[in-house]
Amino acid sequence: MTEITPARLRDLAGRAEALAAEVRALLDEAATGTPEREQLFVAMHASDWLTRAAEDLQQAAGKLARLRSLPDDACGVPWGVCPEHGATLSSSGNVAICGECGRTWTYDRLGSPCPEPVRWKMTDKAGTELAICDGHALAARQQVEDVTLTSLDQPGQEDAT
Ligand SMILES: [Zn+2]
Ligand SMILES: [Zn+2]
Repeated sequence: MTEITPARLRDLAGRAEALAAEVRALLDEAATGTPEREQLFVAMHASDWLTRAAEDLQQAAGKLARLRSLPDDACGVPWGVCPEHGATLSSSGNVAICGECGRTWTYDRLGSPCPEPVRWKMTDKAGTELAICDGHALAARQQVEDVTLTSLDQPGQEDAT
């Protein structure tokens, strides 16, 4: 089986883009105001969809590339945080912004696995343990009930806040 790579997704994106261009070129052959042009209107939507598909495929390629390039000590929680403020991000398309400090990232950080280094061991009420970063530790304090956070940098030290 061939490996799934960002390159393969970018190749598909390129083909979708090329198809979109072909459809547009075909439509350009039909003169404006002709009955032909009227009937082909729906094909214009098709070219828009193909362009959109190319963009989505490019975005998927970017997501896969980021997943593959996660450092070994990455937190890896499947949604992103502001390293300083925790669960304060909002994402739209290819931009994410922290509602606290206004820091921005030029990718869908909120919808991507967290690349920050692990700093804490989180233990929840049920005893489940998870190694997480500073930002996710902050978010856990705000969002998870009865959570215990133990610093991995200074073992034995608990964070009571
Ligand atoms: Zn922030
Ligand atoms: Zn994290």
